[in-house]
Amino acid sequence: MTTKQIHAPVVIIGGGPAGAATALALARLGVPAMILETHNNAYKPNEIIPANAYPLLRQLGIEYILHDTQHRPHVENRFTQGDTCTKECQQGYQHPGRGSLINRTYFEKQLRWAVERLKVPWLGGCSFIGYEDKQDEINITVGTSQGEQWNIQAAFAVDASGRAACLARAAGAKRLYFDQLTAYCMKWPGTPQSLRNATIFEATGNGWWYATPEKGQQFSLSFMTDADLHEQASRRSAQWLSAELAATTYLKTWLATNADRRQLLAATRSAATSILDPVCTANWLAVGDAASTGDPIITYGIAGALQNALQAAITIKAHLTGDRAALATYAHAHIAAFNEQQAKQQQYYTAQTLWKDQPFWQRRLIGASYESSKP
Ligand SMILES: Cc1cc2nc3c(=O)[nH]c(=O)nc-3n(C[C@H](O)[C@H](O)[C@H](O)COP(=O)(O)OP(=O)(O)OC[C@H]3O[C@@H](n4cnc5c(N)ncnc54)[C@H](O)[C@@H]3O)c2cc1C
Repeated sequence: MTTKQIHAPVVIIGGGPAGAATALALARLGVPAMILETHNNAYKPNEIIPANAYPLLRQLGIEYILHDTQHRPHVENRFTQGDTCTKECQQGYQHPGRGSLINRTYFEKQLRWAVERLKVPWLGGCSFIGYEDKQDEINITVGTSQGEQWNIQAAFAVDASGRAACLARAAGAKRLYFDQLTAYCMKWPGTPQSLRNATIFEATGNGWWYATPEKGQQFSLSFMTDADLHEQASRRSAQWLSAELAATTYLKTWLATNADRRQLLAATRSAATSILDPVCTANWLAVGDAASTGDPIITYGIAGALQNALQAAITIKAHLTGDRAALATYAHAHIAAFNEQQAKQQQYYTAQTLWKDQPFWQRRLIGASYESSKP
């Protein structure tokens, strides 16, 4: 096996929204970095970016990317519970202004192009394997898709590897979980024309459904529930999801019924709320989902990652130029932002009034914060 030695001031592990935005923000501050990304253009389901993300894209110098016809204006969130499309729900859940329904796979390509335009090296097909902590630097070991192994010596590293938080975990950081929310995801053929620019959130007794339109008249559909509330065997069965879908009032009538329900379940994704502890040490910090994950109900994952990346870049520059308080300030701000997000999450869940006594909803009436997760 070949071992190549590379030197880089800052190495960013993960080329999702958080990693790409950190690279862009660092480049704007004149700090050279490189990105390591396991995948090359992996498919990801469409998502929503709320309007309050636009100023962040502007700060990163990429406000133009949402003008591409691959993305669409997001006309509405339809929030439903039981047989009503409640007004309070719509007001309670909606971010001010009009957001975008993004082609997430294409959005990530655009981020990569923006990074490469600034001459930041993007090493695709490169996976983090391990690290060694040195006095004033960090040595990262990387495996490539060609079977090579590289050693990267960096002054500082950024963990932007999403929920995997591979560097932070290798360094012994713990992820504190607040629930076991899981997305049971599938593709559904046939989106009615009236819903092409809308997303649907429909509450049921055991959780909620999340539907976003995809290319080619398809819906990307997820049932969000706590994994521990259901028998493991039942969670693997198509009948279970069919029954959960049958429990909806609107969604089942909006979806075409010609799908083969035996083929429904395509993947499961963790959607649990969590925070990394600690979020940084002397030679690395975490950003985006690696640092903390919020409930998709607030659709703030991407915007949160962009905001976090802007702060991270300022922190890294300050730290590398001798500001000894920079990392502590970052950690403090991170906890404050997480607690704020928790409060918002709880507000969204309490807007649902029909199933307050069901375990899934009952659990979410209790407020959570970083401090409450500590013994
Ligand atoms: C069901 C569901 C629906 C959602 N809907 C929305 C929505 O509508 N709007 C919204 O804003 N947010 C939504 N989110 C949240 C959003 O997807 C995330 O918050 C966002 O992707 C976080 O970006 P990130 O860059 O931190 O992590 P990621 O997007 O996970 O990127 C991490 C990157 O790191 C790479 N990586 C991982 N391990 C390694 C390794 N060992 N070496 C190198 N690279 C590695 C991965 O390949 C990946 O590209 C949703 C989440 C879920 C679960």
